Amino acid sequence: MEELKGKKILVTGGAGFIGSHLCEKLLSFGAQIFCVDNLFTGSEENISSFLSNPNFRFIKHDIVDPLFVDEKIEQIYNLACPASPIHYQHNPVHTIKASTIGVINMLGLARKHNARILQASTSEVYGDPEVHPQTEEYRGNVNPIGPRACYDEGKRCAETLFFDYHRMHGVEIKIVRIFNTYGSRMAINDGRVVSNFILQALKNEPITIYGNGEQTRSFCYVSDLVDGLIKTMASDKEVAGPINLGNPHENSVKELAEKIIAMTGSKSELIYMDLPIDDPKQRCPDISKAGEVLSWKPQIALEDGLRYTIEYFKARVT
Ligand code: NAD
Ligand code: UDP
Repeated sequence: MEELKGKKILVTGGAGFIGSHLCEKLLSFGAQIFCVDNLFTGSEENISSFLSNPNFRFIKHDIVDPLFVDEKIEQIYNLACPASPIHYQHNPVHTIKASTIGVINMLGLARKHNARILQASTSEVYGDPEVHPQTEEYRGNVNPIGPRACYDEGKRCAETLFFDYHRMHGVEIKIVRIFNTYGSRMAINDGRVVSNFILQALKNEPITIYGNGEQTRSFCYVSDLVDGLIKTMASDKEVAGPINLGNPHENSVKELAEKIIAMTGSKSELIYMDLPIDDPKQRCPDISKAGEVLSWKPQIALEDGLRYTIEYFKARVT
């Protein structure tokens, strides 16, 4: 493992779900964290346990505005972008700005500080994929004018910007394409499938299946994902990516609902609602590249990760 003690690392989106787990892990290695977040979907509660740590600094800031940091930053993890469909569609133009103007600002910061920068890209760059499982070579099937496009096309443009800064200015870049990740600190109102189903099950409310529930996703527990992010950042200079990070164990949405009902002992029934526009029918990462380049693969089985996540939400359901 790369020596992180004393390293100055900036994490945008650091008060969010994945970002707060990343900050926590980096702090445990003795890194100095600059957490930048506009608190749109993140929260101070997510970072409350490390606010008193002298190695942790919180900067409330929107990355769409230029950011100046006096101290010399060595690494930047760029996670700032709303991630759940209801949140990224809330103000689609701002979502695009985060992945374009915001990304240009962060790449400019990396260039100025001569810092290595990692972009949290997404499996959504593959859209509704016609290749299954998805390899990094697959160029995707994205509807550029649909309601998901602000996120998907924004993230695709961010990847383009990363490679252009790399080619034009020699910025050291890393791109990871994150597949559905879940765990504690997911926002209670983010509408994502794991948080929705667990909350509904714990309250014995109907489980809302969109479409017929045959669509698939592959769920990665957050600690596995964070290990993958840190390994990617520490990889050789030549490794720019993109690299898929996710758990290749694929489930239908209906199977997920049934599993959560069984694990919570819930009395919830399944109800079927309209499938959102452009909702991908299948999604599963091919993670051979992460295995070869990073020696990374997920360790936490879905049942275990769900058990931890159910415990987290239990404490939050009244
Ligand atoms: P999240 O919404 O919890 O985290 C995003 C964080 O970024 C929040 O704290 C939010 O307040 C902050 N943010 C949003 N826009 C910002 C802006 N303009 N300036 C500063 N801060 C801003 O979501 P997450 O699941 O933790 O996702 C983190 C990153 O990982 C995102 O970039 C997302 O696209 C990517 N990702 C996540 C998943 C997943 O399944 N969780 C999958 C693919 C990609
Ligand atoms: N989904 C569902 N019920 C819900 C929330 C989501 O059936 O209450 C479905 C959604 O239509 C999609 C899958 O679950 O097919 C994953 O949705 P999520 O919003 O978590 O992430 P996505 O992978 O679509 O970005």
